[in-house]
Amino acid sequence: MKNLQGLKALIGSPRHIIVITHFKPDADALGSSLGLMGFLRKKGHEVTVITPSDYPSFLSWMPGNEEVLALSHDSEVPAEKAKALISKADIIFCLDFSSLKRIEDLEDSVRKAPGVKVLIDHHLEPEDFATFELWDVASASTAGLVFQLIEELGEKNLVDADIANCLYAGIMTDTGGFRHSNTTQKEFLIASELTGLGANPSRVAKEIYDTNSLERLKLTGFVLSQKLQVLSQYNTAYIMLTSQELKQFGSQTGDTEGLVNYGLSIKGIKLSVLMYDRKNEIKLSFRSLGNFSVNEMARKYFEGGGHKNASGGTSHTSLESTLQKFLSILPEYQTQLTSTN
Ligand code: 5GP
Ligand code: MN
Repeated sequence: MKNLQGLKALIGSPRHIIVITHFKPDADALGSSLGLMGFLRKKGHEVTVITPSDYPSFLSWMPGNEEVLALSHDSEVPAEKAKALISKADIIFCLDFSSLKRIEDLEDSVRKAPGVKVLIDHHLEPEDFATFELWDVASASTAGLVFQLIEELGEKNLVDADIANCLYAGIMTDTGGFRHSNTTQKEFLIASELTGLGANPSRVAKEIYDTNSLERLKLTGFVLSQKLQVLSQYNTAYIMLTSQELKQFGSQTGDTEGLVNYGLSIKGIKLSVLMYDRKNEIKLSFRSLGNFSVNEMARKYFEGGGHKNASGGTSHTSLESTLQKFLSILPEYQTQLTSTN
């Protein structure tokens, strides 16, 4: 971190702190936030984690989960409470997102809040809104960056098993279980340190990957047998899911997570896309191999972004016209998608 001494001074005495992460948080978003919360509380701060939406039930085991202020469309009360806390906070940590629009309804509150903003993130092309930044696209996870910060502050001794499990979860999932190309020696070193500090790799893996509902597993089966399409001339696979289909399988938040990876598991496929109806908008998930940048595609055509090989986006037209738009842009990328690198 560039101005470590400045941050050290800022958190040197007890503060009111908000930790906020992106809409529909994943394990890295929530794990890094709760890990940081655990650490900051040990230093005597008053800390609240706010999420702009609900999140999957396979994250509810994380220590501190019961205290998260999770906004949901069903209730206006937490939104007002969250906005009041944001406006009164001394410090606002923004974790695992690089652009304020990813916190949806809370964007304005955070932008206008007088508290000092601290960004900890690993996504491409960050918006310039924070006073302190720990931003590193070479880091596989935000959780790894939180650990790095604690280390740089010389306070690794404060990391207990609860904090370690939260941070380990972020590293494990954002590397796809230590399989993606972002898995470097550094990720193993941090995971190893966290394990030494009490993280339990098999428990975290079980909680996140192996606590499916039967309906979710059946949704996966349905997707693989009925919905996965391959366009071999573009080395591309895609899945399109209607709200009706999601309803049919009693789909809950998080049930679609990971489906996009199946496309990439097909030999020769370089680009995989999942698109589905998420109430007011169409959500897209992109994954790629090698040099093909889904960040560029998501940013240019689907109001999104992320990482080179994993990005997301949204569309405000129908599912069918979103698919047509996606199909219509593929020729632009055909050379890249069929080259051998
Ligand atoms: P996922 O497809 O799993 O939702 O997201 C893949 C990656 O892209 C994650 O790092 C996620 O934070 C990011 N991402 C997902 N949706 C969006 C979006 O709408 N905008 C931006 N900028 N990034 C996104
Ligand atoms: Mn992340």
